[in-house]
Amino acid sequence: MSSTNRTLSSTPRTTPNSAFSCAWCGRTVSADDGARRHHCPSCLRSQHVLDPADGSPSDCRGRMSPIAVAVRRPGGWVVIHRCVRCDELTSNPTRTDDNQLVLMRLAVRPLAQPPFPLEAFGDL
Ligand SMILES: [Zn+2]
Ligand SMILES: [Zn+2]
Repeated sequence: MSSTNRTLSSTPRTTPNSAFSCAWCGRTVSADDGARRHHCPSCLRSQHVLDPADGSPSDCRGRMSPIAVAVRRPGGWVVIHRCVRCDELTSNPTRTDDNQLVLMRLAVRPLAQPPFPLEAFGDL
């Protein structure tokens, strides 16, 4: 159960739990209930400080922008982040206090910009 965990790790072993100030929007983010907060609940951005492959520290420190949401289990979303400096991808579960407007914007973006005409479905 622990042999292959090389890609898109969602549970990086992380640095100690502490409050931090979001480097991108300035919001002070408190660490609560013991679970480490991976991204800012306000702008949903993160910073590339861990290697997603094995959870080891990364020197990149680039901004990780949320690019999509995905469903991992019923009622559970994960946010996909991509590092703007090195294109590394990560996925992390959303939290109840994440900015729902930003989440919804990510979720509907593919529907708002379809690569094919949606009119075709009108005949079904
Ligand atoms: Zn922020
Ligand atoms: Zn990076």
